Amino acid sequence: MTVDSFQVSDVVAPAADIAAVHADEVDREARFPAEAVAALQRAKLLSAGIPAEFGGGGADLATLASATTAIAHKCGSTGLIFAMHHSQVAALVRHAVDEAVRSTLRRIAADELLVASATTEVGSGGDVRKSTCFVERNGTRFRLAKQAPVISYGQDADIILVTARRDADSGPHEQVLVICDRAGLTLEQTAGWDTLGFRGTCSNGFLLTAEGDLDAVLTTPFADISAVTMLPVSHILWAAAWLGLAEEAIDRARQSVQAAARRQPSVTPPGAVRLAEATTLLHQMRALLRSSIARFAELDRLGSMSRTSTVIEFNCLKVSASRLVVEVAAEAMAICGIAGYQSVGPYSIARILRDAYGAGLMVNNDRINGNSAQLLLVGKTI
Ligand SMILES: Cc1cc2nc3c(=O)[nH]c(=O)nc-3n(C[C@H](O)[C@H](O)[C@H](O)COP(=O)(O)OP(=O)(O)OC[C@H]3O[C@@H](n4cnc5c(N)ncnc54)[C@H](O)[C@@H]3O)c2cc1C
Repeated sequence: MTVDSFQVSDVVAPAADIAAVHADEVDREARFPAEAVAALQRAKLLSAGIPAEFGGGGADLATLASATTAIAHKCGSTGLIFAMHHSQVAALVRHAVDEAVRSTLRRIAADELLVASATTEVGSGGDVRKSTCFVERNGTRFRLAKQAPVISYGQDADIILVTARRDADSGPHEQVLVICDRAGLTLEQTAGWDTLGFRGTCSNGFLLTAEGDLDAVLTTPFADISAVTMLPVSHILWAAAWLGLAEEAIDRARQSVQAAARRQPSVTPPGAVRLAEATTLLHQMRALLRSSIARFAELDRLGSMSRTSTVIEFNCLKVSASRLVVEVAAEAMAICGIAGYQSVGPYSIARILRDAYGAGLMVNNDRINGNSAQLLLVGKTI
């Protein structure tokens, strides 16, 4: 399925509309957007990124990004869940060398399973390239226990992809990715998720314990999966979700300015110029995302995904997009005035702005810039 053949609007719109209906309640009650996710499943959108040979829709990254933006436009939490799910699925699709990975892809496609991730860990924070927990091997079986500070929709996921050290003797960077099936999973909640934004992602903290067959441990090292797929794809799809928030903010601001113009047709509303400025930021986000998707395809073709400069490039996307979404939402709030500051209503920017602030924290921008800084110290190109 390519951008041309996949009618993003036709397939995604009904699910996005359902997300919109429940968005305020999902946010207010910090509850999982069950209705929207069920609609995504009905539309076979959870398997959209899986190749047809495994029973999925075969959508490319550009298509998934468009779908993510359209969903986040209506409900930030649902859009982010969609983005996080597809980042994980992409890791399986692009590293499907093991039969266990391929059979997992077939199962995800057949039953529209929801995939979550537990990469961060108590102690190492957002440093996803470091693990404390390890895979305990016993014959053909494994067991692992991870103190996960945050697992988005962990309670509702069918599969959680977990990073861990390869075994008890491995160093913190010698990581593997483990497919942890709901059947072998125990989640003991250790922290809640009563946050400023992205409340519907229900990203509680858990002591995760998992067991299963050893072939659920991917043979491809996590270092490769992270460089070639997880980092660039996550940053692209997260940015696509934040773009959806920014689009919704600008939409509301535009409607507010147009309503003011209708009230006094002879006067250009003062918010109009600010709207024009905010729209330039929105277009910066769009251009950034489009060029990043094109770069991903190009670098992938050249086999250059794990180059130092590539990591820096996709880190820059994350940092820039997460800042821009806050700027756009703040501008939209200023344009809408008190109506924008209200928690609800057609011109409310409150939920969007609260969600937007999460973007810089989901792997803290300081940490990402810290990683890029280390790479810039040794890199030969930017
Ligand atoms: C909406 C949302 C959903 C998420 N979903 C998931 C999920 O599904 N699975 C998952 O595993 N995680 C998830 N996360 C967690 C996330 O990725 C966090 O990065 C992680 O939990 C670390 O949180 P932290 O900010 O407490 O820790 P840290 O990253 O350690 O940051 C703490 C503080 O230390 C500073 N800091 C840390 N390192 C550096 C550095 N190198 N240079 C400079 N300053 C530094 C930061 O600026 C910050 O002030 C999610 C986060 C959000 C916001």
